[in-house]
Amino acid sequence: MGPSAYRSWVEISLPQIAANFQAVRGVVGPGVEVMPVVKADAYRHGAIEVSRTLTAEGARWLAVSNVDEGAILREHGITARILVMADFLPIERMRLLDCNLTPVIHSLEDIREWDRMASERGVVAPYHLKIDTGMGRLGTRASAREILEAVGEARQARLEGVMTHLASAANYASSQTDEQTRAFAAVCDELARNGVKPPWLHMSSSTPIIYGRREAWQRMVRPGHAIYGYVTALTKATTPQPILKVKPALTWKSAVLAVKDLPAGALVGYGGIFKATHAVRIAVLAAGYADGIPHRLSNKGRVIVKGHFAPIIGAVSMDLTTIDITNCPPVQTGDAVTLLGTEGDASIDAQQIARIAGTISYSVLCGIHARVKRIYLDHV
Ligand SMILES: *Cc1c(COP(=O)(O)O)cnc(C)c1O
Repeated sequence: MGPSAYRSWVEISLPQIAANFQAVRGVVGPGVEVMPVVKADAYRHGAIEVSRTLTAEGARWLAVSNVDEGAILREHGITARILVMADFLPIERMRLLDCNLTPVIHSLEDIREWDRMASERGVVAPYHLKIDTGMGRLGTRASAREILEAVGEARQARLEGVMTHLASAANYASSQTDEQTRAFAAVCDELARNGVKPPWLHMSSSTPIIYGRREAWQRMVRPGHAIYGYVTALTKATTPQPILKVKPALTWKSAVLAVKDLPAGALVGYGGIFKATHAVRIAVLAAGYADGIPHRLSNKGRVIVKGHFAPIIGAVSMDLTTIDITNCPPVQTGDAVTLLGTEGDASIDAQQIARIAGTISYSVLCGIHARVKRIYLDHV
């Protein structure tokens, strides 16, 4: 480990992202299209680089949350189909067409509006329709009859996909997934009986892929977490077992700013919430909650120093975090420590951090701030 060039940085293995994508493809097989989700800047792995990697690996579709996220990919030369999932404000609608983005439409009125816009431009504009089968968030709750009517009236807007989103996929003790799956099938079957058979039916994020819930795969799946190397644990049941093997692609590091010795009785950080019971050697790290280290790791979390765990002591501050390195090998200013990742036998992933901080791994990853530099690795 040479002296660090940055205060805090992430190292992202693009080959690992590629391997995770291929692992998902291998599990669902050639009949199911894999549409990786690269929203929230690819869960902070960097949407542009991740999207380039995935499209080079053969991804024909990418999913984002909003118009801005799609537009940035277009500006950087991504030509794959891009699905915008989390609705759009009226003011953003034109940019969907300008940037050749495919919207998920959540209401029958918006089908009419999308059709009107497409007609004005004289283009055929595809869209996916989201059905609310029980998530109770976005999506239409209209009947199949009403949907058929709105779809049939459209001249230039073309229904290309029907989707829904599962609320309790990781909870095998809940009947909600079965209920949602049945409700989705009922609508899709009714559309099909009336000659409306869009090519893309989809409802699966990572979890139903990971645990082999095949009835949720349909014609397309939308993995996010799994692409970044995470397998969500089931909330209650211990079976089924995961059928997907992926590994985290992101390692998060920080530089040591200072090393010093404190006597027994010394207090550390805001509020003096840590008191040394004996003489300790501490290191001050150049990253804090403004970089995304959860404040709730104060006095609770740990990092890896030269292959050894070192506890976080005192409050995590905005730009600094203090650790106890009394039992670690010698450390110098400029050395790198691992906040999230693996060094030898010691490993900390986003799920472990989330458990200690009382949050979820998604929030830990998305919380890594933009000021944390990104370095891309060309090896796993
Ligand atoms: C974020 C998201 C996904 C991906 O979820 P993961 O659990 O990360 O795989 C899939 N579908 C929709 C609608 C989403 O918003």
